[in-house]
Amino acid sequence: MVTKRVLVAGGGGFIGGHLAASLLADGFHVRCVDLKRPEEWHQRHADAENLVLDLRDHPACEQAVEGIDEVFNLACDMGGMGYIEHNKALCMLSVLINANLLRASSAASVVRYFFASTACVYRDDRQNETDVTALDEDDVYPAMPEDGYGWEKLFGERLCRHFTEDFGLETRVGRYHNVYGPHGTWDGGREKAPAAISRKLAHAALSGDHVIEVWGDGRQTRSFMYIDDCIRATRALMDSDHREPLNIGSASLVSINDLVDLTAEVAGITVERRHVLDAPQGVRGRNSDNTRFRSRFGWEPDTPLRVGLERTYPWILQQVIASRS
Ligand code: NAD
Repeated sequence: MVTKRVLVAGGGGFIGGHLAASLLADGFHVRCVDLKRPEEWHQRHADAENLVLDLRDHPACEQAVEGIDEVFNLACDMGGMGYIEHNKALCMLSVLINANLLRASSAASVVRYFFASTACVYRDDRQNETDVTALDEDDVYPAMPEDGYGWEKLFGERLCRHFTEDFGLETRVGRYHNVYGPHGTWDGGREKAPAAISRKLAHAALSGDHVIEVWGDGRQTRSFMYIDDCIRATRALMDSDHREPLNIGSASLVSINDLVDLTAEVAGITVERRHVLDAPQGVRGRNSDNTRFRSRFGWEPDTPLRVGLERTYPWILQQVIASRS
């Protein structure tokens, strides 16, 4: 049997590192490409081909896809709310990565292409309440996505659609809802809520100062998907014949205050919250409607938040201990 050759664009990132591990475990030939210096990659697999390239450039994309059967495009300039609210132009420039990678993939006769989209493509006006109705895949149009980052992803989705229609490149689009787990960004300004809260609690546990900052009033709601579910769902979608964008997320809605309480329980400490009301918070409420995913695959991402935090917090605690020493 011929071994499938797979490109993980953004392989030095959080989801890319886990995806590459899963593909390698199944015997694929994996090429990871990232912009970051190798020592900054979250995971670096010795049995993968690891390249440092700037995928905004077309020649770099041509090099990345050479001899490749399937492309997972996870490369993107992104971060949590604090990053995307203050870096809209940079977020939108990731459009160059997807456009050039699609062009190069199509020219190189790549068989299949996955694009990591986001729940930030959904209409803002469907996300104004904490007790929000979960977002169905049709809640995108008429378009009113998150400014900057969300527009870039929505344009990326359309590009994939039209590369399929016009050039016959099979594309798959997953709309990720907050992914968390070990081996991801946990400080520096790009981290998302679960990692940021775990880091603050780790510092609290180590310092004895149990007052932590929480962005907003903490009543804003989200769902959080554990990384293992994300990888399994991504691969299931890629291997399927489902051509429309699909939610890949947990459908279990919690408030940020709940997330803090649960993480504190996992950390084994009690904390006092100091709410920063003018910090970036994003939409008021957001959840994933998994009806389509469930009916297509017969399961859905459902690792309980506590279980995921029990695997994530200890890893972040270790990183914090290492950074403090
Ligand atoms: P990440 O930041 O950890 O990984 C993205 C990687 O892309 C980084 O390592 C970065 O260096 C690399 N990259 C950026 N610009 C590049 C370029 N020009 N050339 C090559 N590499 C480049 O993020 P992640 O959490 O792993 O997210 C992966 C994908 O999933 C992204 O497209 C993101 O928008 C999407 N997504 C993630 C989440 C989440 O909760 N993590 C939610 C929704 C969507």
